[in-house]
Parts: sequence; structure tokens; C-alpha cells
Amino acid sequence: MDLDLPAEDDPRRVEVRRFFEEHPAPKPRELVDAGYVVPHWPAPYGLDADPELQLIIEDEMRRAGVNKPTNPIGIGHCGPIVLALGTDEQKQRYLLPMLAAEEMWCQLFSEPGAGSDLANLATRARRDGDVYIVNGQKIWTSLAEVAKFGILIARTRSDVSKHRGISYFIIPMDLEGIEIRPIRNMTGGGGFNEVFFTDVRVPAENLIGEEHLGWGMAKTTLANERVSLSTGTGAQWGYGPSARTLVDQVKANGGLSDTVQRQRLVGLFIEGEILKYHKLRMISAAVNKKPGPDASLRKALADPHGKRVFELGKELMGAYGMVHDADPEWAQWERGFLFSPALTVGGGTSEVLRNIISERLLGLPHDVDVEQGKTWAESRG
Ligand SMILES: Cc1cc2nc3c(=O)[nH]c(=O)nc-3n(C[C@H](O)[C@H](O)[C@H](O)COP(=O)(O)OP(=O)(O)OC[C@H]3O[C@@H](n4cnc5c(N)ncnc54)[C@H](O)[C@@H]3O)c2cc1C
Repeated sequence: MDLDLPAEDDPRRVEVRRFFEEHPAPKPRELVDAGYVVPHWPAPYGLDADPELQLIIEDEMRRAGVNKPTNPIGIGHCGPIVLALGTDEQKQRYLLPMLAAEEMWCQLFSEPGAGSDLANLATRARRDGDVYIVNGQKIWTSLAEVAKFGILIARTRSDVSKHRGISYFIIPMDLEGIEIRPIRNMTGGGGFNEVFFTDVRVPAENLIGEEHLGWGMAKTTLANERVSLSTGTGAQWGYGPSARTLVDQVKANGGLSDTVQRQRLVGLFIEGEILKYHKLRMISAAVNKKPGPDASLRKALADPHGKRVFELGKELMGAYGMVHDADPEWAQWERGFLFSPALTVGGGTSEVLRNIISERLLGLPHDVDVEQGKTWAESRG
């Protein structure tokens, strides 16, 4: 792969740069209309952009100091499914406000008894005329407190194996019977929730794809989530400061005399650089609409790396690291450290990612034969 970014006078770059010169502070809708929010999507949402054009757009956006609208679960996880399998009405209704972050989205997948083993979910949706009646509980639902819509997976048949009989819905979060309870995490903040459904009447037109065949879509959503949680350069699922930020901060504060800490810092810098190159492969996979085990590989590498970056950042603060909400330049390490245990859990735990890599990249056998309920060795003699 050619890793050099297109030249300064590349006509595509010139055109993108001109847009940002003419729109120094673009409104979200202007970015959406230009196709710059999801350049790899087809028109009217994106530009069918190849990896190079995507890199140009990212590069020019960064140079102009412009950020994309923030709707991570909507744009990263839900949007691709609506785009691929939604009806024309669903696409028209939901996608543009989603991309402009005018309507936030959340993902109603995990349950108390269904996390890594998501197909074990117990929330039910029973068809009743032109609605589905939904009952059950979801947990760890990020952004439910601000979301206008959520994607829900629920059981619509129970007389078949657990991976079948699951359906996929768009849920308006203000429907009667939905109760959202915030969960506080150890950063002192929240951001995720329990969501309870009691006889919630969901219009049948909110089903995405075919009834009972939602599991395949759920797996694609999780793969998109892994892409979305691993493409940025920040150490916290692509967001926030990176190993390079820490190096710059250490340099600006007089360097490091402790030899062990120097070794750790340089090691983290090297990992960060390798992850940056791996990102190019991820972009290529996203462009080809094939998020797969490569995304799992990157997430499996990036999450423990993120933990180590925040751990060292906090350690370098010394006693100051015990002060919550210290000076903003340093506080990011303290807050990131407190959040960092979540990195290797959310969006697929490190152990589950290794299972995916071992099966799909390395061609090793399943750890457990899910259908048979036996270990691989037992079920195959
Ligand atoms: C910050 C954050 C935000 C989140 N946001 C959302 C959200 O918006 N929507 C949503 O639906 N969910 C969300 N989640 C939930 C997340 O998807 C689950 O936490 C995750 O899938 C793991 O499920 P679990 O917590 O039930 O752990 P479990 O699945 O119970 O796992 C417990 C432990 O067992 C290990 N384990 C499980 N199965 C295997 C196996 N087969 N082989 C080896 N080890 C195994 C795991 O690795 C883990 O260490 C979020 C989680 C976090 C931390």
C-alpha cells in the first residue's frame, strides 16, 4: 500500500481545501451536504470515496480545525445497517439528521444475561397487528439519556435455536413504557444506562430487514462498532490524547530522567505509530464495506495500548494524579486512567476479540460448539 498522502497540489485536495476556505466554520448540515461526514458512503450521503480521498478529507478537515458532527453510535454503528438494509422510507427519514447529529442514537443490545454471548438475549418483541409489543431490560446503553432513537435487538421467536428468531428494530426513545436509568461509572460521570421496556408498542414499520433474521445484522453492527471504536488516533477508542500527545507533553515539561519510564514512553510511542499504519488497512476495509477480523485485530491491540498510555500519563503526574479535575492538560490522563478499564470490555472484550481472530484470521477451531453446547474437542471427537 502506498502510504504517502496525495501531494499538496493534488486536484482532489485542492477542491476539499477550497471548501474549507469558503466554509471556515461549516454547519453540520453543510458538512453532510458536502459528503464529508461519511465520504465512503454512496450519494446523497457520501462521495463513494476511495481510501486516498478519505485521507485527504480527514487531513484537510484537521488542518482547517473542523470537527465532524458527534453522533458516534448513530454514524458508526446504526447508520451502516440502515443504509444497507433499511427501506427507502427509513433511509430518507433517519440518515441525514443522524449524520448531522441533529438526532442522537444509541445501541440497545447488551442485557444483564447477554454481553459477550449476545444471542442469549431475553428481551421479547411480540407482533400484535401493526405493532410489536416489547418487554425486557437492556444495560450499558451509552447515550440513551440523550438519544432520540435506538437500535434494538429482541427475540421474536423462541422455538428455534438462540441465534435465530432475533429481530432488529429502530426504537424512538420517547415511546411510552421506556424507562432510562443512568449508571454512574468511576470517573464520577455517567454516559451509560439501564433501559427498561414495559409493554412498549413499536410500529411494525420500524423493523429493519426481515423478521427473525436480525442476528446477521447484529453481527454486522458489532463489526462496524469495532471499526468505529478503533479508527481514530486517540488512545481512548480513537478519541482523546495519544501516546504522541504524552511524548509532546513530557518534552514540553523538561523530559524524563527515570530510565524505566523513558523506556515505557518510547515503547508506547512505537506502538502508537504501528497502530497509525494499521489504520490505513482499516480505512481500506471500511471502503470495501467489509469490516471484519482486521478491525478485531486493531481493537485487540489498541485497547491494551490505550490502557498503558493512560497508566503512564497518570503515573507521570505523581501525587498530582490523585487530584480529580487537575489542570486540563494533565486532567485528561487522570480521567482517561479511570475510564480505561472499560476499553478492553466495551465493543467486545479482549478475550472475545482473540476468539474472533483465532477463528476467522488464523482458521483455528471454535472454542465451544455453540449449537451443540459442547467443546470443540467433544463435538468433533
Ligand atoms: C464503556 C462501555 C460502553 C458500552 N456501551 C454499550 C452500548 O451502548 N450498548 C450496548 O448494547 N452495550 C454496551 N456496552 C456493553 C458491552 O458491549 C459489554 O460489556 C460487552 O459485550 C461484554 O459483555 P459483559 O459486560 O456482559 O461481560 P461478559 O460477557 O459477561 O464477560 C465477562 C468476562 O468473561 C469473558 N468471556 C466471555 N465469554 C468468553 C469466551 N467465549 N471466551 C473467553 N472469555 C470470555 C469476557 O472477556 C469477560 O472478561 C458497553 C460497555 C462499556 C464498558
